Amino acid sequence: MQYALVNGIKAEAVKGASGNCIGCGQKVIAKCGTIKIRHWAHAVAEKCDSWWENETIWHREWKENFPTSFREVNFFDNQLQEFHRADIHTAAGVTIELQNSPISLKELQSREAFYPKLIWVVNGLKFKGFKILKAIPDPNHIALNDFEFCHTEHLSMIRKSDALAQSPNPDILNFYHKDLKSIPVSTVFYAFSWRNAHQAWMHVSCPLFIDFGGHFLYRLRKRYQISGNYSYLQLISKQSFLAKYATD
Ligand SMILES: [Zn+2]
Repeated sequence: MQYALVNGIKAEAVKGASGNCIGCGQKVIAKCGTIKIRHWAHAVAEKCDSWWENETIWHREWKENFPTSFREVNFFDNQLQEFHRADIHTAAGVTIELQNSPISLKELQSREAFYPKLIWVVNGLKFKGFKILKAIPDPNHIALNDFEFCHTEHLSMIRKSDALAQSPNPDILNFYHKDLKSIPVSTVFYAFSWRNAHQAWMHVSCPLFIDFGGHFLYRLRKRYQISGNYSYLQLISKQSFLAKYATD
């Protein structure tokens, strides 16, 4: 944790200090080694927040983008009888969870149920076999209403009428086809492939933004289709994300 209460004041860890957990109130000790970032740790293993993930520089750098009062906000979970510490909880009531490591679908769903307005920010540099492919047309473009995206790396579509009829050999149309060639390719929507995709993220209900470092985030989006939902990415600048959520 970045913060604990020292004499009743929300404070960062300094060498030799001790304080109390803002959530459960138990004793915490400052850990100020040279390898890990400065943080507070519970003096004894206890029932505080079972969802809490060890903090990394990636977490800390993300938190630094937000006002101090938004960082590490505690909530009591009546069902689990324990505290949960939201990485970020904004004045507008939005919770942002910064997730560096994979989580189970069960835990993902409990957190989505617990926080009314939850947004996930996930460290994409940890993903294995994830590839951003070409830019695609806006999947909500009106001219695509009668078509569905194929689930192949090569961008192509089938007619919705074929999907409805469950046609075994539908026409596979590329974007040179006369019915599709007038549709512009966007600059913000991208196809992707993910070998051994982390299943929890593919079943997310709340908005999920993937951080690969740099100035842009990729929001994971889903187009509902008869032939199977089509997942794609929407490019969003980190600056506009922070302008929306990090101002008090
Ligand atoms: Zn605690």
